[in-house]
Amino acid sequence: MSYTNILLYCRPGFENECASEITDMTSAAGIYGYVRAKEQSGYVVFCSHAPIDEETFQQHILYKDLVFARQCLLATEIVKDLPVDDRITPLLTKIQPLEKTFCQVWMETPDTNDGKQLSAFCKKFDKPLNNALNKNKLIDHNSPLRLHLFFLSSSAVYIAISHIDNSSNLIMGIPRLRMPKSAPSRSTLKLDEAFNFMLTQKEQTEHLQNGMTAVDLGACPGGWTWQLVNRGIRVTAIDNGSMNEKLMETGLVEHLRKDGFTYVPDKTVDWLVCDMVERPMHITHLITKWISEGYCVNSVFNLKLPMKKRYQMVCDCRQELEHALEQTGHYYQLRMKQLYHDREEITVVILQ
Ligand code: SAM
Repeated sequence: MSYTNILLYCRPGFENECASEITDMTSAAGIYGYVRAKEQSGYVVFCSHAPIDEETFQQHILYKDLVFARQCLLATEIVKDLPVDDRITPLLTKIQPLEKTFCQVWMETPDTNDGKQLSAFCKKFDKPLNNALNKNKLIDHNSPLRLHLFFLSSSAVYIAISHIDNSSNLIMGIPRLRMPKSAPSRSTLKLDEAFNFMLTQKEQTEHLQNGMTAVDLGACPGGWTWQLVNRGIRVTAIDNGSMNEKLMETGLVEHLRKDGFTYVPDKTVDWLVCDMVERPMHITHLITKWISEGYCVNSVFNLKLPMKKRYQMVCDCRQELEHALEQTGHYYQLRMKQLYHDREEITVVILQ
């Protein structure tokens, strides 16, 4: 049994971007093939001309470097026509020859209406499948591999694996974040997701500390500012609009009705965050100015994507940012991801 596919989950509507990205990554790794992607399906399959070696996949197909993929897995051929009365036996005959053990098994579906209809089926199937895997000694909690069954219907499924260090550790690549009651806007979840899933635990502890300072460009009504304040960070909120009153009462926010493109802080702040709706290259130039002038140490910002050539725009912005970061002579980490709470946009984190 070999792996001939790379299976990627994405936001429905972004299959083309996800496909272009994996095509670039695989050809750089010397893995050749073609992509199967259907609009609005919520997933993409890269079909390799030759079996994909696990080591090559691990070394060159890096989940963290993919912007549009919520998950990235090594998959076998699709299993079709699973019989209604016994799905487990044919699945085991495909899983056993992989000669692996798995720390856990996840049953997943595309993030679409059709996919949602399958969630009750997946729930019901979970226990009997786990029992069968345990009985056949395929579950070992110390294994670094995870088994994924990606159901397209109750009779068609991709069998796939991931390494826990090179994949999303969220089922379906989707975080379950609770909307905080006192947060002024749903946008707050974007910054919460960025902090929780684009920074490691250690980075969160190190870089999000009580008493730090931040500037929030395009802050109103204050969803992003709320996340910073909630972590004890003092915020200068730049926006012509109105800030949420309760948030202002915390005493940690200074609201300035100024233009985010011309505002300059008196001294270097720990964080620049920016959620202004503007052309992505315009925002990119603004951020490169902040970094090269040393106005901020770290930053999180959104790039709102154009209607067309979205992947190309991401590549162009990345190139501009990389160039500017290199010029500073400091070491920076640049991370880009289309988060679950991002719609027609992506989130960028720059960490010093
Ligand atoms: N992050 C905010 C939150 O969580 O509540 C939502 C931000 S909203 C998407 C974009 C904001 O950017 C608007 O409030 C708008 O007034 C502001 N904005 C747009 N252009 C701006 C500019 N040139 N200077 C300052 N603010 C600007």
